[in-house]
Amino acid sequence: MIRRAVSFLFWAFVSVMAVIVIAGGVNAAWLRLAEAAPLASAAQRLRVVTTMSTFADIAKQVGGENVEVSYVASPRFNPHFIECKPSDVLKVKKADLLVHGGLDLEAWRGPLLDAAGNPNLFQGGRGDLDLSRGISLLEVPDHPLSRLMGDIHIYGNPHYWTNPENGKIIAQEIAAKLSELDPPHAADYQRRLQEFIGRLDGKVVQWKQMASSIQGKEVIAYHNEWPYLAQFVGIRIEQFLEPKPGIPPSPKQLGFLEEYIKSHGIRAIVQPTYFSRDASETLAKRTGAKVVVLCQNVGELPEASDYIAFIDYNVRQLAQALSEK
Ligand SMILES: [Zn+2]
Repeated sequence: MIRRAVSFLFWAFVSVMAVIVIAGGVNAAWLRLAEAAPLASAAQRLRVVTTMSTFADIAKQVGGENVEVSYVASPRFNPHFIECKPSDVLKVKKADLLVHGGLDLEAWRGPLLDAAGNPNLFQGGRGDLDLSRGISLLEVPDHPLSRLMGDIHIYGNPHYWTNPENGKIIAQEIAAKLSELDPPHAADYQRRLQEFIGRLDGKVVQWKQMASSIQGKEVIAYHNEWPYLAQFVGIRIEQFLEPKPGIPPSPKQLGFLEEYIKSHGIRAIVQPTYFSRDASETLAKRTGAKVVVLCQNVGELPEASDYIAFIDYNVRQLAQALSEK
């Protein structure tokens, strides 16, 4: 009787354990399937890494669900001077495509590529997209310059995405490269590109209208990063707080600008969020001009949540500051 009870308990225990093990195995199998499913579809998407958040936004708009996009440079920092993290190296290592500004905008790009060691992304590689190649550059020097001379725009001005006409070219370049790397989805990329350009063209008409009252006006800028935006809205920017791109404002330069602002009736000093406002505020106080904060990249301020919102914010800020009595 006791032996039968023990035997029953033993087999009951074995059966329960078997059910647990089988159920556990099935569960684990389901879990693995559930985990594997998104990974499998993610693996089919092109992994796109961009240097700037602005390029990432355009790549997302053109690439849609067929791409996974991330960027390296936080829009809260000066894009010329970015400290890359080990996670950035890993992202670039695994990427199918690197979209970058070319020229000497991202001096940190070379070391990042070297650290990642992904041969596809090296200059001329299949996954290398240098956006500057499609752009009509401004301020290309007529003689060779060197960084040793204290300039960080030695191949021409690299901040070209602030003009929405260049935004269109950037979107076209990205769509063409995505189609080349992922031919089965080429029609999707073309459709999304046309939608993006349609939205942008509609806004360009509005922005031109908005800027019509500020044509020919002049502003001062902290860093020389707005010539393409100035070209689009029809204003002039000829003097900068930095005596040369990348060289901080000196007392001598601020003294010169104080006189310049007064004698030329300048109304605004423009700068992005990542430079200290101290020098601009001092000048503003001494001259009566006002400091106008513009965005250099998508996401720098909440208002600049995507490419169109970013351009919209900048054009509005300028139109408002320069048309006020
Ligand atoms: Zn610059």
